[in-house]
Amino acid sequence: SSLDSTIAPIKAECGRIEGYLAIRIDITERKIAEAERAAEIEARTRAETLLRDVIEAIPDGIAAFDADDRLILWKDALLATYPKVADAIRKGMSFAEMVHLGVERGQFPQAGTSPARQKAWIEACLRDHNQATRPLLRDLGDGRWIQVRESRSPSGHLVGIRTDITELKRAETLIRKQAECDPLTGLGNRKALIKRLAAAMRARKKDGDCGALFFLDLDNLKQINDTLGHDAGDHLIITLAERLSAYAREGETVARIGGDEFAIVVPRLADMAEAKAYGEDLLATLDAPVRVHGRSIAPRCSIGLALLPEGARTAKEVFKHADIALYQAKARGRGTLCVFDPAMKAELEERRALADDLAVALLADEIDIALQPKIAFKDGHHNGFEALVRWQRDGKPVSPPLMIAVAEENRLIVALGYRVFDLALATIRNLIDAGLSPGSVAVNVAAMQLRQDDFVARVLGLLDKHALPPAALEIEVTEHVLLDGGDDCIARTLAAIRAHGIRVSLDDFGTGYASLTHLKRFPVDCLKVDKSFVRDIGRDPDDAILTRTIITLAHSLGMQAVAEGVESVEQYQFLEEQGCDYAQGYLIARPVTRRDVADYLRGFAAAAPIRTGSRAARP
Ligand code: C2E
Ligand code: MG
Ligand code: MG
Repeated sequence: SSLDSTIAPIKAECGRIEGYLAIRIDITERKIAEAERAAEIEARTRAETLLRDVIEAIPDGIAAFDADDRLILWKDALLATYPKVADAIRKGMSFAEMVHLGVERGQFPQAGTSPARQKAWIEACLRDHNQATRPLLRDLGDGRWIQVRESRSPSGHLVGIRTDITELKRAETLIRKQAECDPLTGLGNRKALIKRLAAAMRARKKDGDCGALFFLDLDNLKQINDTLGHDAGDHLIITLAERLSAYAREGETVARIGGDEFAIVVPRLADMAEAKAYGEDLLATLDAPVRVHGRSIAPRCSIGLALLPEGARTAKEVFKHADIALYQAKARGRGTLCVFDPAMKAELEERRALADDLAVALLADEIDIALQPKIAFKDGHHNGFEALVRWQRDGKPVSPPLMIAVAEENRLIVALGYRVFDLALATIRNLIDAGLSPGSVAVNVAAMQLRQDDFVARVLGLLDKHALPPAALEIEVTEHVLLDGGDDCIARTLAAIRAHGIRVSLDDFGTGYASLTHLKRFPVDCLKVDKSFVRDIGRDPDDAILTRTIITLAHSLGMQAVAEGVESVEQYQFLEEQGCDYAQGYLIARPVTRRDVADYLRGFAAAAPIRTGSRAARP
């Protein structure tokens, strides 16, 4: 045990020492208490150092408030986070004081500048602080962003952690920018356009003025890509993008919304007349030739125009309107401007419904063909058939040209085409198996079919499937395919088809002004004189001359000539005199169903020939 002794002298009045007083106190308990306190202080210091170490090791800004919301602990990094108030931060300062000071010194741009907005912002800030549930993002006004997470401990302390998320924010902005940017041209993309369009819609709804959305489509990109290569196509797109950007005025947005589609949002215009003038001018501006690989290309564009808001409620609706107008512009002939009109919408919706039904019909095997016979002038014998697609939609036949157009727009034409090939060849196989001589069957094909890489292989595969030689098949391509979409790819496919012994005919010849150059580039076996010329042979001398010229042209190029749409004996006679090779038309027979085709062939063999006065043809 420890003793604490004190000895004190006892003095008399005169000052003389009279004796000594000794006091001894047992201080064992006090010693223990002192040691305990020292240990406690040491432990606390150690804990505090550890806490400091931990806090300093955390890269985030940390601040702790007591139950009365007074600042009791913070880290220097916190001061760096709020440079505008750093000098004023001191222990015991309340959270509310800090926020007020920050707003006053412009530390929080999100708080705005108007007193009302600042007041509301501060209130929200204090509310969030006290509820301390979800993390908050703060813009520090100098390009930095922090995330604030606060939580109150059971002991009443509120600890806030501020993390610098500037890098994350920057990455986010970059990603968002890239997500709205077309990499080839640097223009905005479809997403960016919709955003700008939505903003323009809101503004116009407020002030009652109008704006406009233009959709542009480069008509001949596909052809340029195919003939001059993708570099050339890219160059053309970039040039157009530059022209569009130069044409657009301040506040207008140019975007690339598809491979060959661009758009311009003009947020404000006086009226439709101004919008139209803008579009017409734009067409003229884009027309100037572009030099690519030393060649001069004339870019051809179509434009669809939709005013906004004009009956549309959403940006997407205006987008659709402009799309419909563009579609009409392209249908009317390339290089034109077309204004959206609500009637277009109804028509387009009907076409969409037709496309949907057609897709279903294809899957359900509801597509059929009719077969129209062709006979040879020289002996009146049956020569072959042309397969013509047939479809009953809800019990009513759909017009084949409409159906083909819709199938082409919706990329159904490829599947539809193979179906027709299959049916046509199956029919020929059945007729042969029945002991009849059906001759060949001609199948009409569209440009998109000829662009399929495996087209030739698949057609040969179908011939195989039905055990038929290539000579049993003919392919009909309209003259328009060569004029509109005529490219190297199609030329190669046609050459391959012919190399395999399948004949190729040029359909509707004379309607598209195909020139001799086309015939040289796309060699074929046969020209089909369009029925519009045949129809007027007796009435219009020009048509008679044209028909004669086409037949002569075919022969001089080593091809044969077929006349389609032959309805009268007079027409038949004229064509026969001109040396036409084959005839097809109602005079010989209307298209027959698959079921009736065998009967037709049997009946044909037994029937009397057409009497024309010169030679004989047999209907
Ligand atoms: P096209 O190839 O020129 O076929 C001839 C069209 O004329 C057929 O109409 C036929 O029924 C009709 N026609 C035949 N003889 C006469 C006649 O004496 N007088 C009159 N006024 N018309 C006659 P359809 O079946 O309506 O076919 C129209 C077009 O649809 C075809 O014209 C062809 O371009 C296209 N088409 C038909 N089937 C197919 C197909 O399977 N694939 C593709 N890609 N196109 C097809
Ligand atoms: Mg045809
Ligand atoms: Mg035709």
